[in-house]
Amino acid sequence: MAKKYVYFFGAGRADGNESMKNLLGGKGANLAEMAGHKELRLPVPPGFTITTEVCAYYYKNRKTYPKGLKEGVAQAMKRVETLMDRKFGDPDNPLLVSVRSGARRSMPGMMETVLNVGLTQKTIPGLIKQGGGNSRFVYDAYRRLIMMYSDVVMEKAAGIELKDDESGIRKQLEKIMDRVKKERGYKTDTDLTAEDLKKLCTLFKTKIKEVLKKDFPDEHNEQLWGGIGAVFSSWNGKRAVSYRRIEGIPNEWGTAVTVQTMVFGNMGNDSATGVAFTRNPGNGENDFYGEYLINAQGEDVVAGIRTPAPINEYSKSEHNKDLVTLEKAMPKLYQELFNYQKRLEKHYRDMQDIEFTIEKDRLFMLQCRVGKRNGPAAVRMSIEMLKEKLIKKEEALMRVTPSQLDELLHPIIDPKAEIAQKPLAKGLPAGPGGATGQIVFSAPDAVEWTKQGKKVILVREETNPEDVEGMRAAQAILTARGGMTSHAALVARGWGKCCIVGCSTLHIDYAKKELHADGKILKEGDWITLNGTKGNVYQGKLSMIDASEENILLNEFLKICDFIKRLGIRTNADTPEDAKRARQFGAEGIGLFRTEHMFYGKGSEEPLFYLRKMIISKTESERRKALDELFPYVKKDIKGTLEAMDGLPVVIRLLDPPLHEFVPRDQAKLNQLAQDLNISLDELNSRAENLHESNPMMGHRGVRLGITYPEVSEMQIRAIFEAAAELIKEGKHPYPEIMIPVVCEVKELNDQLAITKKAYQEVLTKYALKKIKHMFGTMIEIPRASLVAGKLAMFAEFFSYGTNDMTQMGFGFSRDDIGTFLPDYIKKGILPEDPFQTIDQEGIGELIEIGIQRGRKSRKNLEVGICGEHGGEPRSVEFCHRVGMDYVSCSPFRVPIAKLAAAQAVLKNKVKK
Ligand code: PEP
Ligand code: MG
Repeated sequence: MAKKYVYFFGAGRADGNESMKNLLGGKGANLAEMAGHKELRLPVPPGFTITTEVCAYYYKNRKTYPKGLKEGVAQAMKRVETLMDRKFGDPDNPLLVSVRSGARRSMPGMMETVLNVGLTQKTIPGLIKQGGGNSRFVYDAYRRLIMMYSDVVMEKAAGIELKDDESGIRKQLEKIMDRVKKERGYKTDTDLTAEDLKKLCTLFKTKIKEVLKKDFPDEHNEQLWGGIGAVFSSWNGKRAVSYRRIEGIPNEWGTAVTVQTMVFGNMGNDSATGVAFTRNPGNGENDFYGEYLINAQGEDVVAGIRTPAPINEYSKSEHNKDLVTLEKAMPKLYQELFNYQKRLEKHYRDMQDIEFTIEKDRLFMLQCRVGKRNGPAAVRMSIEMLKEKLIKKEEALMRVTPSQLDELLHPIIDPKAEIAQKPLAKGLPAGPGGATGQIVFSAPDAVEWTKQGKKVILVREETNPEDVEGMRAAQAILTARGGMTSHAALVARGWGKCCIVGCSTLHIDYAKKELHADGKILKEGDWITLNGTKGNVYQGKLSMIDASEENILLNEFLKICDFIKRLGIRTNADTPEDAKRARQFGAEGIGLFRTEHMFYGKGSEEPLFYLRKMIISKTESERRKALDELFPYVKKDIKGTLEAMDGLPVVIRLLDPPLHEFVPRDQAKLNQLAQDLNISLDELNSRAENLHESNPMMGHRGVRLGITYPEVSEMQIRAIFEAAAELIKEGKHPYPEIMIPVVCEVKELNDQLAITKKAYQEVLTKYALKKIKHMFGTMIEIPRASLVAGKLAMFAEFFSYGTNDMTQMGFGFSRDDIGTFLPDYIKKGILPEDPFQTIDQEGIGELIEIGIQRGRKSRKNLEVGICGEHGGEPRSVEFCHRVGMDYVSCSPFRVPIAKLAAAQAVLKNKVKK
């Protein structure tokens, strides 16, 4: 039997179905399904699809077609004609068709389409008759055909190279149309009369002949085959080729061509067109929702010239509430549409986005696809469809993306307001959500203005720990420097605050209190709006949508995640308040308590003073005195956090940052410190000077402090055990995990373990306890640590991957300065994305895997987690799942996202196996 190249669809029958996407393309397969599947059988305008195999043949055989194709097309056209009771090329009762592309995977706007094919001088009168004498509509269709055809078929497909866009035929015809409108004093295309359009068509044809040296074809079959060839040619058009390269779509796939009956919603007042959703895409409510326009074409709904009317009462809004609904205007057709949408949703088991047209009281379903939705709608639909038994738990989980979940946790910019804006600048998306506020340039101003009831955005070159109060007060933070793990980014994420860093095109003039960007100057007090999820900065005040406070559906959704995921989800929390909040979000413990954070922000004055005293101390006895003073503060903070996480593990990291970060900069504080230590200011300055390092990130920090000053480690470890002992006495169940940072050598660990063991015994005796449940472990954040993990695991009961430093040291990229060169790396494709944001699985990932394997070889039940910023990033979470970590830890606001990513990782990896 001859090979089948043409697949018919229409009127309850179809040769193909949904599973044939490879052969019929996405569009062709979907139309076949809608038309022919026994559960659907919808009134799709009949047509046929020419397979992707023909595309392959076309390119292999110098743009010719296989034998039998012409006959196949002619036969399918006959079936269409019979169904529509019209004939292609017939002067009395003509059939018009569209010719469209359709690859296996959607390539939006990358290939060509020709509409109104079959409209010729001969068929124009017949179409006018069909349209009840409406010649304006016919000449409008004709001028659209001429414009599209000359551009797509006669120019692009003919391989005519253009000097620039301006010289293209389409542009030249548009210019003629503009000239005619101007001459007549018209504002819009709709002002053009039938006579105008008729004349325009003649002008168009003359221009085409002049520019392309060919006549516009006036024969229906020539138009049809011209269109088919042009669609096949557009598979290798410039746009399509580069899109395929970016998206990784193979060249051999090819496109199918779908030829389908044109139906017109603009044939009079008994015609209409519209778009509808089987559920509300804005909030997920299970109600039929949509808009339509009487006597209009699809593009009129999109163009926004006329306000579309609601299809039913439910779809009414403030701006269309006075318009007549489809339900009232055409009750029978509305009911028909309503029944179809029910069928569609049941069949596809998901919310569908539907396009329909009514031509002279006859309803046609043009297209349906899975509807786009926002975060709150995605969660609601997923839970409700699960309850309706439309979908299973696993599907419900896969229906929500981590970024959609994020929308429920932060305020966002109203997408309608954002779409119309061009960003003033772009930076790294460090803290998600949106925020709007007035510019201030210093942390104290942020605090002050906020006290006055203003909303501010703190704009800085970069931030440091002294800015914490201002950062807390501000709605959002914007910095010109810094990377995804810079101070500003870490702190902001911890609070769930909107933040953009590394926005290197900003120039800040602190003296003049000005911000220069995109050729504009913004002053203190001017409004800006940030989208911290995308990293976009906008000028002015855009409207916002608030996050829902308590979300029952979200909690239900997270319960499903908990049921499926394997990874534990802990949080990075540094204060009892953060710990409490994280627990509400569902955190299953703390994966990183950074001790040093108790020295930043509110209430930190006193402990910070003693810490500084300790740092500046020269002798051990001076240092011990300062440590004794500091001890109660450290213990109190740790106790509060252990209590908030009662029963759950809390990883407490010993002091990590280079000490000089804590040396005060202002004179009054320096004086006070000198006085308290009973030393001169000169002496103090010289001690502070000694702490200065050229490369502090690789300097005297982490475990190195504990090696030099064992008493510093000892104080902290004792504080941890005493806090736990007191809680045990109060009937609680604390579970501290003591973590040593920046380790690269087993002897460092052994040294700190000895201190830990000693302190443990002393505390047990002091509190007359037999045991305090705890663990001793290390961070793995230096590449060498991963390589010697086998040895480290002999002393460490757990590993926690510090992927911020691991990325910094693995790449040799400074985590604070990456903003200056990363954009160039991304633009040139040298790196696919910021490795501080999502784990570089190829390099850093391998280091991690090596560490886990070697570590578990020497200690089978070694606990492994991650506490770098990657722990809340969905693709990194999936990686952590795959390499067998026990948990990930992330900022409280990312806990729900990590839960979803962890659950989706289980499902995705099941499928792979
Ligand atoms: C890390 O390096 O990944 C880490 C969590 O530690 P910090 O960011 O505090 O250096
Ligand atoms: Mg680190």
